[in-house]
Amino acid sequence: MVEVKYTYNADTCKYEPVVVTPKQLWQRFVRFLGVSFLLGLAALVYVMVQLPPLDETIQAQKNVQLKAEWRTMYRQMERESERLLALERNDDENFRVILDLDPLSPSQREAGVGGREKESADIAYPLIKKGYERTEKIVNRLDIQEQSMTQLKEELQKKEKMWAARPAIQPINNKDLTQLHTIFGLRMHPILGYVRPHNGLDFTAPMGSPVYATGDGVVMYTGFSTYGNVIYLDHGFGFETRYAHLTKYIVEPGQFVKRGQVIGYVGNTGLSHGPHLHYEVHYKNTPINPINFFQRDLSNKEYEKLIELGSRATTSLD
Ligand SMILES: [Zn+2]
Repeated sequence: MVEVKYTYNADTCKYEPVVVTPKQLWQRFVRFLGVSFLLGLAALVYVMVQLPPLDETIQAQKNVQLKAEWRTMYRQMERESERLLALERNDDENFRVILDLDPLSPSQREAGVGGREKESADIAYPLIKKGYERTEKIVNRLDIQEQSMTQLKEELQKKEKMWAARPAIQPINNKDLTQLHTIFGLRMHPILGYVRPHNGLDFTAPMGSPVYATGDGVVMYTGFSTYGNVIYLDHGFGFETRYAHLTKYIVEPGQFVKRGQVIGYVGNTGLSHGPHLHYEVHYKNTPINPINFFQRDLSNKEYEKLIELGSRATTSLD
């Protein structure tokens, strides 16, 4: 049932039903539409301002994923850094110690090799900047480690040369050796009959026994003197060896010789009292006792034999 509205008419002093004209009905309809439109618009603006757009939501999800992946990558980087640290420790505590090199300080290791540009300075995003700075530190340490390995390699090559050059074996094979005269220093010369320094050791061996170079080196001199036929070898690093009273030599000045190479043969030339090799070791132009250089080359038994042979002889043969 349609509700009828009434209004008071002052002229007739009666309540009369309100009659709505079509014009009024149209006006009401238009007003309703206008209000509805404004309310709708307000709702739309509210949604647009308060809620993020869809692509922004997707972007946020991607950001979360990116951060998670970045953390995984950073952890991996930290693990690699730990491995590098272990290598650095091994370098400092073992490799460098073995080769008589000082360990590198932490500040030396962090400093890196000069000239590398700091790209992290141009990065604005803090998380990426942090990762970049970490990477730069690791790269610096890698540069230093690489440099250290090069230094170790060069030092090792130098040491190998030095070890190969050092007079470290007997110049006469033990099977040929019949007696060792260990008189070193001042003693009565067996032929000249007065006191003169004896700057080497005398190895008695049959005539023609091979004489060996005791370390890698270069032939400095071959010739004849009161020591008969002689060979002088320069081993570098301050070492020289001399081989005297040879029956002959088979090397010439300037020639490179290896440790253990035959360079001549035992003889009795010069002022010599029977076939033997007179052998000298000089370090920085000073004669030193060669006996100290054989020990590492001999077994205990061989060394005892050497000492026993030496103790039997009380004179030098020059
Ligand atoms: Zn001698």
